[in-house]
Amino acid sequence: MADVTTGTPAAEIGVIGGSGLYALLDDVVEVAVETPYGPPSDSVFLGAVAGRPVAFLPRHGRGHRLPPHRINYRANLWALHALGVRQVLGPCAVGGLRPEYGPGTLVVPDQFADRTSGRVQTFYDGLPLPDGTVPEVVHVSLADPYCPDGRRAVVAAARDHAWEPVDGGTLVVIEGPRFSTRAESRWYTANGWSVVGMTGHPEAALARELGVCYTSLALVTDLDAGVETGEGVTHAEVLAVFARNVDRLRTVLFKALESLPATRDCVCSHALDGVRTGLPGL
Ligand SMILES: [Zn+2]
Repeated sequence: MADVTTGTPAAEIGVIGGSGLYALLDDVVEVAVETPYGPPSDSVFLGAVAGRPVAFLPRHGRGHRLPPHRINYRANLWALHALGVRQVLGPCAVGGLRPEYGPGTLVVPDQFADRTSGRVQTFYDGLPLPDGTVPEVVHVSLADPYCPDGRRAVVAAARDHAWEPVDGGTLVVIEGPRFSTRAESRWYTANGWSVVGMTGHPEAALARELGVCYTSLALVTDLDAGVETGEGVTHAEVLAVFARNVDRLRTVLFKALESLPATRDCVCSHALDGVRTGLPGL
């Protein structure tokens, strides 16, 4: 296991997702990263895709031991930022809220709606860190929560791979770990929302608070309870659909990584312009 103490950027792009996404890479280096917010979900795995240094972080930890509501999202984003990551791609499994968004649909949302509860969702809570520094009160804009450049890269990569994605739409993020009731699910659909997941928030919001780009790749694994007509989704079905799609998801993800801009000039990169955060390294 490598030791990260030099402060030299170890990666420029981060991927928060399952271990199936980097398992095939050669020369992956495992690093343990400490953060002021406690431990991330797991070690970070450093590798290279098309010559670009990439940091992979298993969102749920090895063996999928962390449910969505117990993930230390702040530690995860802080660890990637500390390694030098400034652009994050976040693949996730979601339920489709429209009949046409069946299993295997790739949605690249441009909005999310937060229906979580009780999650720590900010770095700017005014509470002192272990080293005594106190963050300022900072309000970042989240009108457009996802990186426009990242979204473009993912949509183009999917099209190149003959996997026509849904370009845009709203990801509603629920607390979980249970799935939606039919009433909840119909309500989400009636609101015009596209897909439902459990991890998109606060992941994207925390990235923006660090000035980090975030792009969601939402893979539909099932139709949500209000749309489907059977017994409701099971965890086993979700895992099976994800496994069937992991190869092409990895291909699209890696193609998108290659085409992410080397120099950023997007809304995310300017989120903290002129702002005093009080946070170390920002
Ligand atoms: Zn951006």
